[in-house]
Amino acid sequence: MRLERMELADCAAPEALAAAILRQVPDMPLPVPVEDIARQLDITEIRRIETEGFEGGLIAWDDRSDGVILVNRSGSRQRQRFTIGHELGHFLNPWHKPKDAQGFRCTSRDMRVSSAQPGDRAVQMEVEANIFAAELLMPRALFRKDLRGKQGLDVSHILALARKFDMSRESTARRYVELQDDPCAVVISRHGKVLRCYRNKDFPYVSVKPGDPVPAFSIAVSDRLPPGEVSDWNEIDRGSGAAHASRASCWSKP
Ligand SMILES: [Zn+2]
Repeated sequence: MRLERMELADCAAPEALAAAILRQVPDMPLPVPVEDIARQLDITEIRRIETEGFEGGLIAWDDRSDGVILVNRSGSRQRQRFTIGHELGHFLNPWHKPKDAQGFRCTSRDMRVSSAQPGDRAVQMEVEANIFAAELLMPRALFRKDLRGKQGLDVSHILALARKFDMSRESTARRYVELQDDPCAVVISRHGKVLRCYRNKDFPYVSVKPGDPVPAFSIAVSDRLPPGEVSDWNEIDRGSGAAHASRASCWSKP
């Protein structure tokens, strides 16, 4: 694999930056070799360190001639892969500037943000770095091809895609929701509480919010689902006014 950074010269949007990389490798191997890509694009070192309060960092000169990516070494391999993609997204974007001379220091929360208030440049940079990481590590065309090769929604498919792209289950679920043609939503819960919810634009409404207890009738809190197994699809009541019946399926972490 050989990459030319010059090919990225006119790109600022994260989607365009990722596309300019992917165009140079028509037969991109999976999982996407993010460390090789970073090194070819002038990242001289990926330093795995013990960190306090941040998940990833970037040290680079103002001219971005080269850079060093810092990664929280206690994270899973999949999480580290996303972090490297995120920091590479900051490095390659000429409009991304850290708030001080220390360079970028990105928290796990930064790695999840998907929207920013108008004018909030700091958060907008994090959103763009996340878009870049997802576009690079789960290339849209390859991911979509996989989705379309499988009819309908399937929680098992999210788990298989996470293995194929070597990404965390949550990042994969988020990409799955984003690129899925059917209306769908994924709720992440732990210890009976909702952590996060992702839905695509076609999914009308999700009544649960982060911090809410998982509804008592949910298959996620019933004791019918052994850890590591995916439930059958269950019809769920979305209440009066719902245009369509909904179905839900659940996977329980081992
Ligand atoms: Zn960041």
